[in-house]
Amino acid sequence: MSVDTETCKHEITYFGVTNVNVDSRTIGSVDVWRCALCKKRFCEEKQLGIDSIVDYVGMPKIEPDEKWAVLVRKLFKGKDRWKLVRLKQNGTLKVENPDDKVIEIPIKDFKVDDPHHTSFLIDDNINKAIEI
Ligand SMILES: [Zn+2]
Repeated sequence: MSVDTETCKHEITYFGVTNVNVDSRTIGSVDVWRCALCKKRFCEEKQLGIDSIVDYVGMPKIEPDEKWAVLVRKLFKGKDRWKLVRLKQNGTLKVENPDDKVIEIPIKDFKVDDPHHTSFLIDDNINKAIEI
């Protein structure tokens, strides 16, 4: 298999779901889609009760050196507690918090490295639930 993920004309099919739970109750999920040709994965954040219509053209983009992850903000509750993000192996993640402050979180080996945040890679949690 040598399909280039960046030049591939993706044929996207549903791949799985990662549920986001608080006290064993699902509050949201991340739908995972995968290209049948190059195996690149695309994810979509879903908050419980909000339906979204899947639009292949509008599939969120991810760079070849990034991985999908759920960012957990330990200082926030409910739907503000988590967010779908893209992590590079190392560097910083810039995110806008629910209080409109933009913060930078250090990333080490595809994990956030910060006392107020944690992260879960989607690749490790397909068809599983993560407790946040
Ligand atoms: Zn593809």
